[in-house]
Amino acid sequence: MVKGRFAPSPTGRMHLGNVFCALLSWLSAKSQGGEWLLRIEDLDPQRSRREYADQLMSDLEWLGLTWDNTPVWQSNRGEIYEHYLQKLRELHLIYPCFCTRADIMATQAPHESDGRVVYKGTCRPKGGALAEEPTTPATLRMMVQDAVIPFCDGHYGRHDINLTEHCGDYIVRRKDGAWAYQLAVVVDDALMGVTEIVRGRDLLLSSPQQIHLRRVLFADDPSVPSDLHFFHHPLLCNTQGLRLCKRDKAMDLEYLRANGTSPQAVTGRLAHLAGLIPEPVPLRPETLLKDFSRGKVPTEDIIV
Ligand code: GLU
Repeated sequence: MVKGRFAPSPTGRMHLGNVFCALLSWLSAKSQGGEWLLRIEDLDPQRSRREYADQLMSDLEWLGLTWDNTPVWQSNRGEIYEHYLQKLRELHLIYPCFCTRADIMATQAPHESDGRVVYKGTCRPKGGALAEEPTTPATLRMMVQDAVIPFCDGHYGRHDINLTEHCGDYIVRRKDGAWAYQLAVVVDDALMGVTEIVRGRDLLLSSPQQIHLRRVLFADDPSVPSDLHFFHHPLLCNTQGLRLCKRDKAMDLEYLRANGTSPQAVTGRLAHLAGLIPEPVPLRPETLLKDFSRGKVPTEDIIV
């Protein structure tokens, strides 16, 4: 069975960009007779708030985007992440890193100016990872291979990414003990039985890292689906061409709901932006199921 998921971070009120993602992933899973799962990605103790998560669930219900099963809260899953971290330890694939951000920035070549930070392996132990972790707090990094990971996105096509050049050894646990997004997302998608990931194209290039880690952790686990499909969608942008964010107040659900906008109007507007209907007429999400096709969604980012 197809299992899709929506995995928001409760760091503010949802804006139209988040709802666009929720709607497309819901439509994709439900139009194939599948399940749509909800995972609250509340790993960042400084930025995540319970009231945002409650609000987010209330907004999804208001929109008619109902989820299957009980929502998964990442903040409750520390022991599970620890179990898989231990597996990486036993495989000698992780090591402690003491570099500061300034150290890492100092190793960046000038051409790497697209905002990506590539870790050059300064703390990588020579000849295999350390068995013992130090007693002082350290970031834990996952070793990547110097090999190309081919990956095919259902919307943006094939990408051949060499993780050494793309990101280098990446963080699986932060120095303050917080779990890193990449580890948590891979473990959760695998254990929740997710078969398709529909999300914004800002995460497109995280996919090869996730494919790599999933292979390392779950390739020999028959309970984890062997097939995982990715479909990244364009981002909604403001009139300056910048991706919608919490500062674009008129685009968030707090503003829209306070101003009497109906959930059907929100859905119709987003469905129109997604290329699913010719005019932005108010409608409920299930009305879109019959004719839904991911192929109708544009690849260029969308100005709202
Ligand atoms: N929690 C992430 C976000 O809200 C999304 C993670 C994912 O879909 O993989 O941006």
